[in-house]
Amino acid sequence: MAARPVESTVMTAIHIYAPPVTRRFVLARTCPDCGKRTRMLGWAYEWYGATVVCLRCGREWQDGEWMPLPFMRGAREHSIAAAKVRWRRLSGHD
Ligand SMILES: [Zn+2]
Repeated sequence: MAARPVESTVMTAIHIYAPPVTRRFVLARTCPDCGKRTRMLGWAYEWYGATVVCLRCGREWQDGEWMPLPFMRGAREHSIAAAKVRWRRLSGHD
């Protein structure tokens, strides 16, 4: 009795889910965290609220909620750099 092939069921069981980004936007406003006029990069998703990152202090909001910054040195700088990289990557050209 031959074993049934299981590859197809395994492949469908494993998938990494990432919500599609429907649009990007730039906001010019006063940041509630650092209190300065700043620019914020934002991404809107199909089924989720938008993610917004302040380019001055690195604070991130998701769907209007403040996201905690990791307790590490340079967390804000890292957040800003990651947002810029992400922005460029989704723009389709460097
Ligand atoms: Zn800020």
